[in-house]
Amino acid sequence: MNSTSENHNRYTGLIARYPDRLPVKSEAQVISLGEGATPLIRLQNIPGLLESEVEIFVKYEGLNPTGSFKDRGMTVAVTAAVQTGSQSIICASTGNTSAAAAAYAARAGIVSFVIIPEGKIALGKLAQAMMHGAKVIQIEGNFDDGMRLVKQVSQEAPVTLVNSVNPNRIEGQKTAAFEIVEDLGRAPDFHCLPVGNAGNITAYWRGYQEYFNDQLTETRPTMVGYQASGAAPFVSDEMIDRPETIATAIRIGHPQSWDQAKSAKEESGGWFAPRTDDQILEVQKLLAGREGIFCEPASAVSLAGAIHDIKNGHIPSGSKVVCTLTGHGLKDPDTAISQCGEKPVTVKPELDAIKEIILRGME
Ligand SMILES: *Cc1c(COP(=O)(O)O)cnc(C)c1O
Repeated sequence: MNSTSENHNRYTGLIARYPDRLPVKSEAQVISLGEGATPLIRLQNIPGLLESEVEIFVKYEGLNPTGSFKDRGMTVAVTAAVQTGSQSIICASTGNTSAAAAAYAARAGIVSFVIIPEGKIALGKLAQAMMHGAKVIQIEGNFDDGMRLVKQVSQEAPVTLVNSVNPNRIEGQKTAAFEIVEDLGRAPDFHCLPVGNAGNITAYWRGYQEYFNDQLTETRPTMVGYQASGAAPFVSDEMIDRPETIATAIRIGHPQSWDQAKSAKEESGGWFAPRTDDQILEVQKLLAGREGIFCEPASAVSLAGAIHDIKNGHIPSGSKVVCTLTGHGLKDPDTAISQCGEKPVTVKPELDAIKEIILRGME
């Protein structure tokens, strides 16, 4: 007999919606927070600035339970871990993986260990990992150092690795492509996304291929991966040792899904391209100010890249473009506030003072 709360748990979230497409048992214990089913939002104001007849949609993954697409992979990875009897999980993280791992572990009643680069994780993400009770280990090193360590330790200690080298993560994340095809009634012409560790571009490509049963090549999108100029190993086609960017979620020099991401690009006829930190922040602000959509800096690189490639004609007029906005803007309040020049004004709590500001503001 199912109680109401069990029903709720069972019939929301990705595993409930795509039981035949995911490698876990949906009739056994499922660890879900109702992830997925995020909105695909058509941009209304930005396309008009581009002198091109493109339709741009954003897949707003910041609206997942912990504020990033990592939840899609984590529901499958943690469900599989629990179903096979694991008592603890571990990941290296630039922030969002740790937030998701911590939340899903809390939900499952198991222990999470997260390794993060000291001082290089956005405030909101750290707050999440701590609130959800993760054992947070900061290292005097970067994400790539953390990745090397968690791969080693998960071989030697009884802990399940939940980075995207865990195939269950990719499986969960591919469902975003299913949702896009369901919403558009077809695949987009171009799918643009930020590339860090490269699990997500791998997952989307798999999702599109599976949805169309590995046939009908013309129905799949061209995959375009954008990176921050200071952390762009796919652009230079070689791994780098000291990645640097304000977009901390993609501050990665040794991507784990290297071969898969390159195949996605090649098989789809796509490309990789860089955007500078300034260009990324400009588009983050444009999206927030012109469309009412707040994403974190790493997410904005997808739209920054798409805008550039629309202007230069690599993405032709008439195209349908989807950009994945990987994480919510509230994750990184420091970066957001620091790029807003106009600070709030302070006045006396009096009618005239407020009126004066309104009248001045309307001019
Ligand atoms: C994890 C993450 C990325 C990068 O995704 P990969 O799968 O590592 O390429 C981009 N943006 C945000 C906000 C992320 O959390």
